[in-house]
Amino acid sequence: MKDRYDIVVIGSGLGGLTSANRLARAGHSVLLVEQHSQIGGLATYFRRKSHIFDVALHGFPVGMRKSLRKYWGREFSDRVIQVKSIRFDNPQYTLESTFDTADFSAKLTEHFKIPQETVKAFFDALAAMNYYDQNTETTGELFNRFFPGRTDVWRFLMEPITYANGSTLNEPAISYGIVFGNFMSEGVYTFLGGTDCMLKMMEQELLKNGVDMEKSCRADKVLVEGGKVTGVVLNGKEVGCKSVVFNGSMPRLVHEVVGDECFQQDFLDGLSKVRLSTSSCQVYMGIKPGEKLPFIGDLLFTSTYPTFDSDALCARTITSRTYSVYYPEIRPGTTGYSIVASMNARYEDWAGLSREQYKAAKAAMVEDTLNAVSRYVPNIRAICDYTEAATPLTFSRYTGHLNGATFGTKFEGLKYSMEMSKQVAGLFHTGSVGIIMSGWLGAANYGVIVANDVDRYLVRNN
Ligand SMILES: Cc1cc2nc3c(=O)[nH]c(=O)nc-3n(C[C@H](O)[C@H](O)[C@H](O)COP(=O)(O)OP(=O)(O)OC[C@H]3O[C@@H](n4cnc5c(N)ncnc54)[C@H](O)[C@@H]3O)c2cc1C
Repeated sequence: MKDRYDIVVIGSGLGGLTSANRLARAGHSVLLVEQHSQIGGLATYFRRKSHIFDVALHGFPVGMRKSLRKYWGREFSDRVIQVKSIRFDNPQYTLESTFDTADFSAKLTEHFKIPQETVKAFFDALAAMNYYDQNTETTGELFNRFFPGRTDVWRFLMEPITYANGSTLNEPAISYGIVFGNFMSEGVYTFLGGTDCMLKMMEQELLKNGVDMEKSCRADKVLVEGGKVTGVVLNGKEVGCKSVVFNGSMPRLVHEVVGDECFQQDFLDGLSKVRLSTSSCQVYMGIKPGEKLPFIGDLLFTSTYPTFDSDALCARTITSRTYSVYYPEIRPGTTGYSIVASMNARYEDWAGLSREQYKAAKAAMVEDTLNAVSRYVPNIRAICDYTEAATPLTFSRYTGHLNGATFGTKFEGLKYSMEMSKQVAGLFHTGSVGIIMSGWLGAANYGVIVANDVDRYLVRNN
């Protein structure tokens, strides 16, 4: 680590990584620091026994292929492959989809018996939506306009998106339109080789482009003088820089890492009203070497709850789980199978528990999940040799995100993230924020947008 850089990027989530790579490619000197011993942020993996578990590689929109090609290279985009079998099983319907416009339209007309004109009008309305329109319609109102009383259709349209970004029927319809449009264009995609392969490739690319990287290195403070960023304090050591890109929790950046005194009161007042997104729980199940899983689909959205209900989706009494099933083909040359069950969750449901209660609640979640999986894999207990569980506290501990927020803040946070440099010159924020700039694609793309802003700032100020 040198004493001075043009830019210090704090946090190696997909936003921070992509920002750092873009800025280094543009010729700036860049230091990337990550508090954890591994890069990737929420886009991470871990190894236990013979297993590798992907934490956040369940699916992303096809747009990721273009972003990886443009901002990382062709060897990355060539690894983007389609998730082919997406299944749904709940009290309202059981069906399989490739999750693209053609198949979704066919399901709506053939399975749900919605007239073709209504389906077309719905897709046209989504396509006509513009982020800059002052439209106040909520997603719930939009659904009611096209499919009144059809809660089965609402669930079909909404449940995967809620899993994908934690949004509810009360969010603006525009945010639904953009995310749905992203996913629906050509289906759902994944990264061949898994998260470990992608992160290893990214690390090599960053080093090749001259980025200095420090892991297990926490940024405690951003130094500001005369309203301008002048440096950072990393594990107690001062490093000078002209600009900072912060990839962690936005409220923590403002209140802890920079300090309220550097911000105007109306900005602080507005930020205090920004809602965090909900968090997640996961149960990881490793299959014994030599045993095989039957093919039960790649992504399986299951629920025993009667209708779509975003509160029920987050409740500690779990009724809805999405299974990501990893067959050996995801990591060519390997033979392992694993299942990751993901659930939306609320931090407060887990944070108040005593140590013993927390341990017991985690163990119960694993047991309940094994019971739930046995509906699809009857011998799961016989063939599974490793289980582990993550809760909102786990996500909070590994990333420092307030309340373990899976997708940063709700959409109103974007304004404050984008205005950061108007408050403190040279200070930028990137990463999951708002519904649109979330997930792998949103975070990576936002990393690029912010890198371009930083580049402009540095050119102007040199
Ligand atoms: C269980 C789960 C499943 C998901 N599944 C999917 C999916 O299938 N598809 C999809 O598209 N998205 C998924 N997501 C969401 C997606 O992973 C995130 O939106 C995205 O990875 C977030 O990227 P980010 O740039 O916001 O950074 P984050 O991943 O939030 O990383 C921020 C980084 O900053 C570091 N940091 C924070 N403060 C400091 C500091 N002071 N000093 C140094 N480092 C610091 C943290 O340690 C962390 O590494 C999932 C998320 C979760 C939790």
